[in-house]
Amino acid sequence: MGATEAKTVHSPALTYFSMLSLLSLCPPFVILLWYTMVHADGSVVQTWNFLKQHGLQGFLEIWPRPTAVAWKIIFVYGAFEAALQLVLPGKRVEGPISPTGHRPVYKANGMAAYFVTLVTYISLWWFEIFNPTVVYDHLGEIYSALIFGSLIFCVFLYIKGHVAPSSTDSGSSGNLIIDFYWGMELYPRIGKSFDIKVFTNCRFGMMSWAVLAVTYCIKQYEANTKVSDSMLVNTTLMLVYVTKFFWWEAGYWNTMDIAHDRAGFYICWGCLVWVPSIYTSPGMYLVNHPVNLGPQLAFYILFAGILCIYINYDCDRQRQEFRRTSGKCKIWGKAPSKIEAIYTTTSGETKTSLLLTSGWWGLARHFHYVPEILAAFFWTVPALFNHFLPYFYVLFLTILLFDRAKRDDDRCRSKYGKYWKLYCNKVPYKIIPGIY
Ligand code: NDP
Repeated sequence: MGATEAKTVHSPALTYFSMLSLLSLCPPFVILLWYTMVHADGSVVQTWNFLKQHGLQGFLEIWPRPTAVAWKIIFVYGAFEAALQLVLPGKRVEGPISPTGHRPVYKANGMAAYFVTLVTYISLWWFEIFNPTVVYDHLGEIYSALIFGSLIFCVFLYIKGHVAPSSTDSGSSGNLIIDFYWGMELYPRIGKSFDIKVFTNCRFGMMSWAVLAVTYCIKQYEANTKVSDSMLVNTTLMLVYVTKFFWWEAGYWNTMDIAHDRAGFYICWGCLVWVPSIYTSPGMYLVNHPVNLGPQLAFYILFAGILCIYINYDCDRQRQEFRRTSGKCKIWGKAPSKIEAIYTTTSGETKTSLLLTSGWWGLARHFHYVPEILAAFFWTVPALFNHFLPYFYVLFLTILLFDRAKRDDDRCRSKYGKYWKLYCNKVPYKIIPGIY
């Protein structure tokens, strides 16, 4: 893989436009979303009217300055997660072989880190050592500190990629913006074993999702002395999703985020800032908008959400089981149908990959995105339909995954050539069977 790969997916003009737009618009958007959820009743119209009336000055007043409390919370949380990543025991796991022939090795201790984190956090609250409402009350300052801190972190990744890359899977496209945005190193590490992408994507980003979901629940409880059923459904579904993630974390190390996307603004800033703010936002909204769904509706939404999370998990599991056993497994009770795809690595070696064409992977080439999007809808719908903003994550995820399906298809087409064409002929739909 070359760092230039990303820029060839869309036209150069569109690529530069989207990179510069995301670099400049994402940080203020995080603050506006937080402000609207927490201080403007979740109403985009209210925030819009405020900005219309007060202009840029008003926006700067909204933007909280990073405070010492915010930095302390981020630092303690980050250091705790880094320590767990380093010290907790875990099985040795090998990642997929990279185009330059490098195979990363990991310690699979994500589930243990997840368990220790949640037990510690809830115990701190239970024994009145630290109240999670402090996190909610300083959320704006925390996001503000994360925005700036993570930008500096991405500069560090850029410099490290130039002067001290950790492996051969590194390189410059010759363009500063592309290198900063898409990253330079595929597998950056500190020392031999501290994997930076495992830290940013899994242990900081995904873990913060669970920690904040619990925080929102506790905040609502402390404010109202009870938790609404809408909040319970939302928190449960988010926790089931994140639990699934850590259960399958070693599988995540085989996906595009880790095996194809380099460590830069797109992935790392996204996981350090966008995940804790945007991904958790339906819960953030519910804190001040408790809805009473009633047991029957709450149960149906919960059931539908869990089913979608399970199907999404099963799609990933099926693909990985199929690859792990070199196709010698059962898919939906039968021997899998497959394509043997031959490709050449950048070092000129000829290799073979198996492409599964039955089971979930026979319905559409990226069918797994359908239950992913539906699950997000089901943990948002407890907020009902008074405001659009809680649904922003669902909308964002839909755009992200449709774009990702295109990026992945383009990458696989250039990797597998005629074999990918064969797969497309056999499984013609990209995401939604019979429609798209
Ligand atoms: P994956 O990386 O898991 O799958 C795509 C890769 O699988 C391809 O690049 C190709 O890699 C290989 N592949 C493609 N078709 C086949 C086939 N038929 N048989 C075997 N292998 C195949 O996809 P994602 O990283 O996009 O998704 C992983 C999970 O993460 C999903 O559950 C998804 O929903 C979730 N996700 C969530 C996001 C969020 O923000 N909430 C964002 C993105 C993903 P190779 O080069 O090895 O052939």
